Amino acid sequence: MQDRLKWNYVAYYAFMHVAGVVGLWYAFTHASAGMIWFAVAYFFVGHLAITCGAHRLYSHESYHASVALQYLYVLGFSAVAQGPIVWWVGKHRQHHARTDADGDPHSPREGFFHAHMGWLMREKHVDPAPLQYTRHFWRNEGRTYAPALWQMKHYKWLVPMMALGVPTLVGYAMGDTLGGLLVGGFGRVAVQYHLTWVVNSLGHSDDGPNGTAANHWLLAIPTVGESFHANHHDRPRSYRLGQQWYDIDLGYYTIRLCILLGLARELRS
Ligand SMILES: [Zn+2]
Ligand SMILES: [Zn+2]
Repeated sequence: MQDRLKWNYVAYYAFMHVAGVVGLWYAFTHASAGMIWFAVAYFFVGHLAITCGAHRLYSHESYHASVALQYLYVLGFSAVAQGPIVWWVGKHRQHHARTDADGDPHSPREGFFHAHMGWLMREKHVDPAPLQYTRHFWRNEGRTYAPALWQMKHYKWLVPMMALGVPTLVGYAMGDTLGGLLVGGFGRVAVQYHLTWVVNSLGHSDDGPNGTAANHWLLAIPTVGESFHANHHDRPRSYRLGQQWYDIDLGYYTIRLCILLGLARELRS
């Protein structure tokens, strides 16, 4: 497979960045405090869906989640516009299987920019992950993870609706439709992209005997615990990434709460 630039992806990310900057400009100059609070809350909904759903549940199967909770995850994940969950999970499992080596989709050995976002615009990396990394979705005839397969099937309307439609509607209800689209939609998605991508770039900025994975305490809150990435590579099947009591891991607290509420079940921690 050739490693060509995919110009449609380049154009997409360029557009999302321009729209994202306009969204942030609007946030600082026009938006009400209520709109900012909504965008921040919606950011955390999306990020918790990434970490508790796509990552800790679907990629590593570190706990069991009820179907109802899974539907919340796949809706929240659709709001971040990061591809179908099945694709995201396949790429992530490939990253764990081939960390820092040939075949790692976002290998830090190919440079910081490549690990951060460059890989998303290259033909050989955006293609579907090899089937061995996604086969578990079809286990039990697809019933175990049916919501994720549903999200893949309906991706084309779910993502515009959750990423832009819902914030626009909330904006309309607040009397600022454009603000909803720009701040809760485009601005939030752009910030959300970079706070996901730092896990692959800064999260692999070490150069020690154990490879490149690194912990970054200062990013713990905005990455909802994902920045404890060295811990994660040490124990990938644990749903707890912040290993110390002082490591703030909002993803872990959320899963604990879901277990308390009967929406999830302990497998390993
Ligand atoms: Zn990693
Ligand atoms: Zn992982």
